[in-house]
Amino acid sequence: MIEIVSAERCVACDKCVLACPTNVFDRGPGGVPVVARQEDCQTCYMCEAYCPVDALFVAPHTHPLPAGSPLREEPEVAGAGLLGSYRERIGWGRGRVPGARLAVGPDLDRAGPAPAAGRAPAGPARGARD
Ligand code: SF4
Ligand code: SF4
Repeated sequence: MIEIVSAERCVACDKCVLACPTNVFDRGPGGVPVVARQEDCQTCYMCEAYCPVDALFVAPHTHPLPAGSPLREEPEVAGAGLLGSYRERIGWGRGRVPGARLAVGPDLDRAGPAPAAGRAPAGPARGARD
């Protein structure tokens, strides 16, 4: 759930307000959004992804964090490098490497699965050349 809007970092661009699919934010004083309906947050991270200045933190929890949680405190979250960290990890933002280039997945077996008993081996893969 959305937990932190850093008024110090926010440049009042409204991107998070527009990106949020469930209308969690209201525009606050000076254009800094306020979390007006946290219970509607779907933990989709879109606000954090779109924030150009890493001013938001969405905690990886489906319920609001309890009072006293360090993940509700901006100094702790910023100090741990977590403000805007989702955006950073997906590679959005100038100078960042797109997350898809860093994604780790299973090795693809280019030869394909072994043919079933009694069947002829498969021909060359589509697009293969001599
Ligand atoms: S995580 Fe998604 S639902 Fe929650 S405030 Fe951000 S954009 Fe809205
Ligand atoms: S996207 Fe970031 S900078 Fe823009 S209004 Fe929201 S918190 Fe502020």
